[in-house]
Amino acid sequence: MSPIERDAQPADSERPIWRSAVAVVQTLRIAGHEAVFAGGCVRDQVLGDTPYDYDIATSATPDEVIALFERTVPVGAAFGVVRVLRGEHEFEVATFRTEGGYSDGRRPDSVQWASARDDVLRRDFTINGLLFDPLEGEGAVIDHVGGLEDLRAGVIRAIGEADERFEEDKLRLLRAVRFAARFAFSIEADTWTAICKRADEIIEVSVERIRDELERMGTQSAVEPGFRLLERSGLWRSVLPEVEPTDSLFDRMGSAERLSPVATWTLMCSELAPRDARGVCQRMKLSSATGRHVEEAVEILRALPTYDALDVVAKKRLIRRPEAHTALEIATLGSGAAAMDGLASAQRDERGWSREDLHPETLVTGAELIAAGRSPGPSFKRALEAVEDAQLRGEFLSRESALELALRHLDEP
Ligand code: ATP
Ligand code: MG
Repeated sequence: MSPIERDAQPADSERPIWRSAVAVVQTLRIAGHEAVFAGGCVRDQVLGDTPYDYDIATSATPDEVIALFERTVPVGAAFGVVRVLRGEHEFEVATFRTEGGYSDGRRPDSVQWASARDDVLRRDFTINGLLFDPLEGEGAVIDHVGGLEDLRAGVIRAIGEADERFEEDKLRLLRAVRFAARFAFSIEADTWTAICKRADEIIEVSVERIRDELERMGTQSAVEPGFRLLERSGLWRSVLPEVEPTDSLFDRMGSAERLSPVATWTLMCSELAPRDARGVCQRMKLSSATGRHVEEAVEILRALPTYDALDVVAKKRLIRRPEAHTALEIATLGSGAAAMDGLASAQRDERGWSREDLHPETLVTGAELIAAGRSPGPSFKRALEAVEDAQLRGEFLSRESALELALRHLDEP
């Protein structure tokens, strides 16, 4: 069987990025090298999705690539990867290679330049092992590993011996789950068996890479399928030991799709104490801003059931917190959301209150209290808050009456 199939004419061949990518392939070919599109972009194209980047694989060595293009960045020249910049677009141009030995289970000890076919055989899954020749007539998919068939059947299958492929690079354990979730594909039996067998070995991968995979499971697709696979395979307890995979959490995940990164983490941590949620973010080396946001959002989420009992000032102070929106977004997920006390009114308030309702104009400042002869101290803050409370209650205050109110507060015993 010829590995070439002619059925993947991209729907978006008029896109400037496509034309730019084809031009890069052309330049390499005119210089006598092999060059094709490779990996995810071919997969996405066959699926009818618009690739957001085009990776190019070539027989040219990094030095040859650098010599052929005006603007290049040798991002991983030792591994054969050069970034080529062309107009506003950039492309990773990678030399066909095989990878020798994975003694740390994470990255290859060495690489060797190789044929296009060998370059495909080092890739992870058959659907990621497709090449595409954009200069061949209408464009042609080159399939050495049965990737087209698996794409059509909706199957994630390791290229080659599944167990060996996961042994060499443990990140593939999570990638398999993520791609299955993203495309709603099933995982082929041998591939699945190997994942389950090696699930505990995922901890050999850096926490940053685990973090990025987990985050993508929330941001790229429906959330539940990926996390179900994490649980069934045994990966969950290694990557998220702090979080119990409860029915209620899955129920919530079941209605979540393509969340923002911060909402993804808030969802994962939604059943934890706020401090523990922050702890997960810290362990995952998320930014401290993200960690704080998740902690606060989880705290607000937990406060929602008693929302209706709050007075208007407390409600406004809650709704105006920057994390309230994330908390409300996560609270609406799951079959129980409609019955959740406080949620409907908090949502109504969030929509109904304007910026000015939540952040009334400042009528008195500390400087004015000093000018009125009071000495600064912790009571200033409380006095100014009393003014803001009155405003949040909807009381109309002039600047004079606001100053009076603050001074009265300060002078009270
Ligand atoms: P995405 O749309 O998520 O970027 P992708 O398939 O482009 O999907 P990348 O991580 O960008 O994924 O990798 C590009 C290609 O490199 C993959 O399609 C695959 O062929 C190969 N690849 C990436 N990571 C690995 C890995 N850990 N092991 C083997 N091959 C890999
Ligand atoms: Mg990619």
